[in-house]
Amino acid sequence: MKVAIVHNSEEKSKQVTKQLTTLLEQNQIQIDNRQPELVISVGGDGTLLSAFHRFNHLLNEVSFLGVHTGHLGFYTDWRDYELKELVESLCIHHEKSTSYPLLDVRIRFRDGKPDKHFLALNESTIKRGNRTMVGDVFIKDELFERFRGDGLSISTPTGSTAYNKSIGGAVLHPSINAFQLTEIASLNNRVFRTLGSPIVIAHTEWLEIKLQESDDYFVTVDQLDIYQENIASVCYRIADERIHFASYRHMHFWHRVKDAFIGED
Ligand code: NAP
Repeated sequence: MKVAIVHNSEEKSKQVTKQLTTLLEQNQIQIDNRQPELVISVGGDGTLLSAFHRFNHLLNEVSFLGVHTGHLGFYTDWRDYELKELVESLCIHHEKSTSYPLLDVRIRFRDGKPDKHFLALNESTIKRGNRTMVGDVFIKDELFERFRGDGLSISTPTGSTAYNKSIGGAVLHPSINAFQLTEIASLNNRVFRTLGSPIVIAHTEWLEIKLQESDDYFVTVDQLDIYQENIASVCYRIADERIHFASYRHMHFWHRVKDAFIGED
């Protein structure tokens, strides 16, 4: 098996990467940062997001596995003191994998420029400088509402515990093959009206946000900021591709949510 390791800049992650590399080599597992079959991230959920964007051109061939150097994360199953068990399990169970939905993001332009295409693991947002963003929300090509406010967030099920949760979105179990539209500070009064609550959109449906003409929109895809002029609309759907995780251990999802946000009794 060929393994790539992606770590963040913290000293602890660098040390853990060194230990992990030694253990992998001792077990005849090859390090290959170009064409890996398994990508191990060492750091936090943010590091796993970076690893995903580095290797998302190989999604059909690679699985991911996250080692957390702090608390347990949502994409990070293993703790930094469990490296020996991790490597042992790689030698035994490496064929097993679980997969989660990704968000397909397509930016369309007014000036005939080709569309830009991205995959998001957590979410994509649309915002507009310091001015009110105005966008028509189409679901399956039918106008649903005209949104006015700070912006919109469109998240995957596994991204529902990230930015989406901070802006009042629901937490979705990752086995649900759907995506969520959540408002960011919508303007709601006697003149302007939106639904005002997050909505969950099926994998058979798609969303298009048609933007009022302006040059100060910015779109994010996970931790990537994409500033583009002449954006006409942004289209979202569940991607054909999925992210595969090497599932050497399963943890009850709601236990993980409780552990992250509520804590033990
Ligand atoms: P960051 O600002 O360094 O980290 C954001 C925090 O979000 C970290 O604590 C990270 O956990 C956590 N996180 C990432 N994915 C998560 C998930 N699926 N469920 C629960 N928590 C998650 O940013 P970053 O490391 O570059 O990551 C970018 C992500 O940060 C974005 O996709 C967005 O979802 C999130 N974010 C959240 C807010 C907010 O909640 N107000 C604001 C900006 C960005 P670790 O500590 O384990 O890395």
